[in-house]
Order: sequence, then C-alpha cells, then structure tokens
Amino acid sequence: MSIAEIDLHSALKKYFGFSGFKGLQEEVIKNVIEGNNTFVIMPTGGGKSLCYQLPALIKEGTAIVVSPLIALMKNQVDAIRGISDNEGVAHVLNSSLNKTEIKRVKEDIVNGITKLLYVAPESLTKEEYVDFLRSVKVSFMAVDEAHCISEWGHDFRPEYRNLKHIIKRIGDNIPIVGLTATATPKVQEDILKSLGMTDAVTFKASFNRPNLYYEVRPKTKNVDADIIRFIKQNEGKSGIVYCLSRKRVEELAQVLQVNGIKAVPYHAGLDAKTRVKHQDMFLMEDVDVVVATIAFGMGIDKPDVRFVIHHDIPKSIESYYQETGRAGRDGGEGHCLAFYAYKDIEKLEKFMSGKPVAEQEIGHALLQEVVAFAETSVSRRKFILHYFGEEFDNDTGEGGDMDDNVRNPKKQVEAKDDVKI
Ligand code: ADP
Ligand code: MG
Repeated sequence: MSIAEIDLHSALKKYFGFSGFKGLQEEVIKNVIEGNNTFVIMPTGGGKSLCYQLPALIKEGTAIVVSPLIALMKNQVDAIRGISDNEGVAHVLNSSLNKTEIKRVKEDIVNGITKLLYVAPESLTKEEYVDFLRSVKVSFMAVDEAHCISEWGHDFRPEYRNLKHIIKRIGDNIPIVGLTATATPKVQEDILKSLGMTDAVTFKASFNRPNLYYEVRPKTKNVDADIIRFIKQNEGKSGIVYCLSRKRVEELAQVLQVNGIKAVPYHAGLDAKTRVKHQDMFLMEDVDVVVATIAFGMGIDKPDVRFVIHHDIPKSIESYYQETGRAGRDGGEGHCLAFYAYKDIEKLEKFMSGKPVAEQEIGHALLQEVVAFAETSVSRRKFILHYFGEEFDNDTGEGGDMDDNVRNPKKQVEAKDDVKI
C-alpha cells in the first residue's frame, strides 16, 4: 500500500473524528505506514498514541503495543473499541485473562480482526505468547513510554531491556516505533541503542510550554505559610502541591484545611477507595487543591490546573518538567512554584545511599542538574529546554519572559542550610 493511495485525513476523521493532525503526527504516521523504524519524542499530551493507532488501523496485520501500565492500556483499548463496530479491534494480552479470554484474543488476531494488541513487557517474556505472535502477521511493534528502557530515564523498568531480543524472536524485520516524552539526549541515545534501531527516523516536537510560568523560591521554615499565602492569592483556582513524603502530604493537607483551604491528601499509602475519592473531588472541583506525592498525576487529565507547587524539589529535571507539565494543559495560565533548600538535595542523596553504585551515580548526576536549575540566574525555561537538547532564545521564543529570572534578574538563590524543613 503506498501512501499516495491512502487519504490520511479521511482516515483520521473516520476513526477518531479529528479534523486535523497535531504537530508532527502526519509526518510520523506516514513514516510508520512506510514501515520504517520511527522514534517519536513529544511532550505528554502531544498526541503520541495516534502515531501508532492510526497506522495500526490502516496497515495489514496486528500492531503490538508495549506499554508499562495496565490501567493506561485498558483506557486505550476502551477508546479504540469505541470507534469500531467490532470490539475485537483492540485487545490486551496480560496475566489477568483466563483461558477462554486468551483463546478469543488469539482467534481475533488470527482472523485479522485485531489491529492493536496491547501487552505489558513482562507478558512478552512468556514463551507461549512469543511463539504465538511469531505465527501471525505483525504490522509493527510500538514501544510506548520507551524511556522505561533507560536507567537515565525517570522510570526505569528492567523488563524493557529484553524487548530488542523479544521483538527479534517475534519476527526478523518488524518495524519498531519507539515513543517517549523524555527528551534528554542521553535517554534518547539509550532508547535507540537498546531497541536496536539506531537507523530510526526521529521526530522531536518542541518541549516548550509557553503558558507556564516558572519560579523557584528559597525554602525557609516558613514554607507552609508561603504556600498558604500563594494559594490564598489564587483562591478558587485548581492546584497541586507535591511533597516528597506521605507524612508531609498528610501534615500539609491538614495545615491547609485548618487555614480554610479546600484541600485533600493523595499518596500511595491511602487505600484505593480514598485515593479515587480524593482524585474525583479534585476533578469535580469539590476541592481546589490536592497535596500529593508523585503517586498523583499519571493519567490525570484536568486541563485547568492553574498552579503546581513543589514543597520539595524533585529528584530530576524530567520529574520537575512532568509534574509542572500538569499545569495549564488548556493553554491557560499555569504557575509553577518550587521551594528549594540545599538540605533537600542532601536528603534525596541520602535516600539513594542503599542503592547499587551505578544507580547512585546516575541519581547524583540528575540531582546536580536540579541544583543547577534551582540556583541558576539564567532563564528557567532556557535551562529546561537546553536540558532537553533544545535551543531557546528568550527574545524571540514563545514564553520568553515567563520565569522569575527573566522577569526579575537577580543574584543566585542562596539556599540556607540551617533551616528546619
Ligand atoms: P501523549 O501520549 O503524547 O501524552 P495522547 O496520545 O494521550 O498524548 O493524546 C493526548 C490528547 O490529545 C488525547 O486526548 C487525544 O485524544 C488528543 N489528540 C491526539 N491527536 C489529536 C488530533 N489530531 N486532534 C485532536 N486531538 C488529538
Ligand atoms: Mg502516551
């Protein structure tokens, strides 16, 4: 099938109801349809899924999609099923299926009904599945959240490491599509090498978020009061406050409540029911603020989060970018305020001390970048984009004046070491 014969816009409209492609989607999709190895780097929300979903629907055979989170896979499968009159069009293959269900999945694939098969990387270690997949027509392999393959990423998963060999076993010439929102040159290189696709055509979107305002303030013993003041100045707006520990989340949520702020805590130590309840309260705007550990955010799609506060500085620039990225999804205002004390860096270093040396070294290097970011007197945006391998000119670039260092040029932040935090 040549691209000239396919009307991608009609296919987009027909399957997804969208009237146009976002950013680089069309170029990426053409490249995937042509059967090339493809590497897609786009920020969260950039529309990466479509880059493999549409080609999968168009191409002959079944596309295998590797994704790390069962919940995310389920969401995608439900969405794809919604656009087709045959629910066999997309399936998940994982350990939760019983024998009858597995049989159904296999039949649908063999009969050419299934265009998208979502699998967790650990399922692909099963001989039985690999043997089966080798016997069917696979259109391409999509590796979503491909940074999980890299120890330099923020979410390393050892099971991702074997993917290259597994893909080889499923078929010799299966095109690979790697997708990630992590843009550091190191992680990119790791992905290309680990997936054995150094020949891939790379598509990288800009990571600039022009509507976000970046600010770092020194963290003192008055940090709670500073946070309360900020939230009160932004009354009625939705926001997230990130803390490192569950204990701090609980304490701060209470402090906010006592001060008349509608806030709820969220962390992995709360039972599932409470977590869902608090998340829904935030989404439904029964509360304005969620005080959370990093357990909160993955897959949360609230477009009008107006501020993200870091009570504790994150362990890497990527984490900071991901977490602040939850503000202003709708393109409206998004204030990103981080409190920084060098003591917190030491605390994070200490947490790593029990880990293997290689991991500690990586963790240390990532933290040094965070220190540099927090203490820099150059534009925060410029710093972040440079970290992601992107040149940014504050005079001509969008959002060029949207950070504290540009608005109020000043000397370096002097974090005090002796304060209690
Ligand atoms: P990513 O995986 O890059 O974080 P997603 O694939 O989850 O992003 O897409 C983010 C949102 O953008 C989804 O709600 C999706 O439906 C929407 N979207 C993707 N492509 C388009 C498009 N061409 N037109 C309109 N909306 C789109
Ligand atoms: Mg995605």
